This record gives sequence, C-alpha cells and structure tokens, in this order.
Amino acid sequence: MKDFPILAYHKISPQFEVGLTTIHPKTFEKQMKYLQKKGFIGCSLQNYLDAPQSNKFVITFDDAYENVYQYALPILEKLKFTASIFVIYDYIGKENSWDANFLGIKFQHANQSQLQKLSDSGWELCSHSLSHKALNILTKEQIINEIKLSKIKLEKMFNVTINSFGFPFGYYNKNIIKIVKDCGYKNGVGFTKNYDNEIPIYGRMGIYKYIDLKHSIYIKINKNHPLHFFEVLKGQSVHLGAYITIIYQKIINKQN
Ligand SMILES: [Zn+2]
Repeated sequence: MKDFPILAYHKISPQFEVGLTTIHPKTFEKQMKYLQKKGFIGCSLQNYLDAPQSNKFVITFDDAYENVYQYALPILEKLKFTASIFVIYDYIGKENSWDANFLGIKFQHANQSQLQKLSDSGWELCSHSLSHKALNILTKEQIINEIKLSKIKLEKMFNVTINSFGFPFGYYNKNIIKIVKDCGYKNGVGFTKNYDNEIPIYGRMGIYKYIDLKHSIYIKINKNHPLHFFEVLKGQSVHLGAYITIIYQKIINKQN
C-alpha cells in the first residue's frame, strides 16, 4: 500500500511562463480524461489513505495558485476527481513574490474563499509552510514556526484537520521529519520517498510542460508498465531545476 502513484502539479494556466511548471488547462484536461478512460480515478492523498484502491492515483497541487481553483477545479469536478492542495499560509491571496519570477511574470495565490470552495468540493487542504523558504537555510526555531504555525493557522481558518506537510522545494532531512511529526502531521510529501521514520514521507512524480504527455503520465501511474521505471527517473531529473530557486533564495537572503 505504501507505494502508490502521486502526481505533483503546480500551475494550471494558459499564461506563458519561462519554466516547466505551468500546464495549459486544455492539456491538463486531456491528461485527466485520458487517465479516466484508462480506468483510473484521481483523488486526494487523504482519500487514498482512507480507502486505497489499485486504480486510484493521487493528484496534488503545490503552492495553491489561484489558477488551480480557476481551471483545475472545474475540470476535476466534471470527472468526479478530487485533489490535495498545498497552501503557503502567508501567501494566501497574494502574488508569488517568494518565487524566482523570471521575466517578472507573477502569479496570484488562491484567496481564502477560493480555498474554502476547494475544501467544500472535497479537496484536501495541506500545509506547504508559512513562507516557502527552503528549510535548510533556516534556524531550528524558524523551521518549527514554518511547520507548526502553518498547520495551526490553516486549521483555524478552514476548520479542518491538516494531516500532510509538503516540503518547500521537496527538501527535507531526518530532523525536519521529526519536527513535522511532533507538530501533529500524519505524513509528509516531497519528491523522494522515505519510510525510515515514524511518519511516512511520500514521493511524488512532478508533471512538467513539454516533457509529460498524457501517455507518459499513464506510464508513471501504471507500475506494471515496462517503461514505468524510466518515466519515474525522468521526472526526478527534471526536479533538479527546483534547486535553482533555492540558490536564488540564498542570494536574495544575503542581500536583505
Ligand atoms: Zn512549492
């Protein structure tokens, strides 16, 4: 049961962006419809853990952009799919100034009422920290704040239990996992898996523009496919790009 397919998306938008993390809504719709046609059901992480099924796959969205509410929700609703969304608490309703923003292109994060509607539609709200700082550049106290306060504040704002913590940039280590557990989370998600601790860290497969065609996503979630291993490996090498943003943050932090 431990290894089940989890897809990681970021932005679903027709807006152009430098980088690979924005998927056009039409492309996203084609991907989801194709997986449904192949007999798969997309669901939130909590839904999968509560009722695992071999034809289910988990859909996650990092950073909780407004465009996910705008474009992904109606598409998934039509297919009766749900998803988990990882919210950066301090950026609810704000622009993504924490990100590298190449060419000055900015994106808006979902506001409180949009997140409430996602929650009301059966989506799982999860924490993606307070401010999306790479946790490895923070002090222990700052790390605890990012992990603990985001859970408390989200639970208060939406009156739900937050069970999952998504590591900014997928970065974590043993000490960070312990803090996540001590703060009351049931699991963590990154891009690599780790089951050696008291709570499981689930690995996810990032879905990227140009690289992931609907059939390759089908191979990613279909463990029995002969090319499955290759597809998973491909996704992991693309994720290295996230480290560029960590370096960017380090430079910005030094300037401030
Ligand atoms: Zn993120």
